[in-house]
Amino acid sequence: MRRIGVIGGGAAGFFAAIHASASGNRVTIFEKSTKLLSKVKVSGGGRCNVTNECREISKLVRFYPRGEKFLRKVFCKFSVSDTISWFELRGVPLKTEPDGRIFPVSDSSQSVIDTLMLEAQRFGVVVKTKTGIEEIRPHGEGFFLISGSGQDYVDRVIITSGGHAKAAAYDFIKSLGHSIVDPVPSLFTFNTPRDPVRSLMGISMPCVHIRLEGTKLAYEGPLLITHWGVSGPAVLKLSAYGAKWLHDQVYKAKAHIRWDAGFEEDTLRSDLQSYRERHPKRRVGAHSLFQIPARLWLFLTQKAEIDPDQHWYQISNKQINKLLENLFRFTIEIDGKTTFKEEFVTAGGVSLEEISPGTMQSKLVPGVFFAGEVIDIDGITGGFNFQAAWSTGFVAGTSVNQ
Ligand SMILES: Cc1cc2nc3c(=O)[nH]c(=O)nc-3n(C[C@H](O)[C@H](O)[C@H](O)COP(=O)(O)OP(=O)(O)OC[C@H]3O[C@@H](n4cnc5c(N)ncnc54)[C@H](O)[C@@H]3O)c2cc1C
Repeated sequence: MRRIGVIGGGAAGFFAAIHASASGNRVTIFEKSTKLLSKVKVSGGGRCNVTNECREISKLVRFYPRGEKFLRKVFCKFSVSDTISWFELRGVPLKTEPDGRIFPVSDSSQSVIDTLMLEAQRFGVVVKTKTGIEEIRPHGEGFFLISGSGQDYVDRVIITSGGHAKAAAYDFIKSLGHSIVDPVPSLFTFNTPRDPVRSLMGISMPCVHIRLEGTKLAYEGPLLITHWGVSGPAVLKLSAYGAKWLHDQVYKAKAHIRWDAGFEEDTLRSDLQSYRERHPKRRVGAHSLFQIPARLWLFLTQKAEIDPDQHWYQISNKQINKLLENLFRFTIEIDGKTTFKEEFVTAGGVSLEEISPGTMQSKLVPGVFFAGEVIDIDGITGGFNFQAAWSTGFVAGTSVNQ
């Protein structure tokens, strides 16, 4: 039996603590705040999107802008199916929504919290709140965990202190010799304060293609125009994959939107030209084409310098080209970001090169393990971040006896 210290009482910390204690170790969770599992509580709008239906590992790992390769090994040890059975066997029935996100049937994150708390209690996990660990001091075979209220000696330590925007929050890990990939926010929506596109607030398109100018970063999916800019799954995905690049640009960039990901430039041009020939007397603003909502259609035609009262026979090839440009490569000016309230994460953290994915043990300091968002792993929205927390927590917790 070993003494195990777990730093951080979040999803990864509890999962690691439960699995480390299940094999007979004496486990203590050190939590700096007064609250346990606070992110679980607010997650998924209070419903907690615990995981995602995507069970095939080779597909699952593609939802992680950082950590794709590393997680292959981790998910082989604790998969989506393992998460589902773990919670269901402990009295948290789960349901899958049409988009693949998995929630408790109760629609309440409290049922997830109650189960984690109960399991930790069952195995005798001790929890010390208001105990922020400031230093991990290696000593003999183990470590002193130094906090404002004193020090505790442990044989093994699992670091699950989560993601932080401020680099200083990682100092106690850095002083062990670990490198920290600069933390930056991921999963946000784009502000377009000076862009007239905001006048289209409320319009949503089912599947756009959006690309960041000057990069190869481009994603497809639903897009929503809000009163501050653009949001929706396509934007969130782009924000995750472009998290570091956008941070370096101070969140000032241009993005190009194809209003329907299926549009092809040549086909669009010939469709517009043939529409002009077939309906010369129709007014351009009277019928929107290509299933574009009427308000958006009017906006795009005006951007193409077409008066909506003009008849199609009056439209020149130059105007058709402009309209095509706005349908196919509509440009928005991003200036700033807004946190996505449902789920946001930190990209960056402890470098993956210094951790063994088979055990989550540090390659630099034997006896130190990591799990959760503190590592340079993050997923897009949809339950992928919790899945990474459960899986890395499980691997760390079950590896401490090695
Ligand atoms: C609003 C919101 C909604 C979300 N919704 C979802 C969702 O529905 N599905 C999903 O998959 N993901 C969601 N996420 C992301 C998910 O919550 C996180 O990825 C996950 O909670 C990470 O777990 P963790 O245990 O690694 O870190 P955390 O949950 O951040 O826990 C870390 C803990 O460590 C403590 N700590 C930090 N430093 C120290 C220290 N030095 N000493 C002691 N304690 C310390 C912190 O106080 C904290 O309690 C959401 C995130 C947010 C912010």
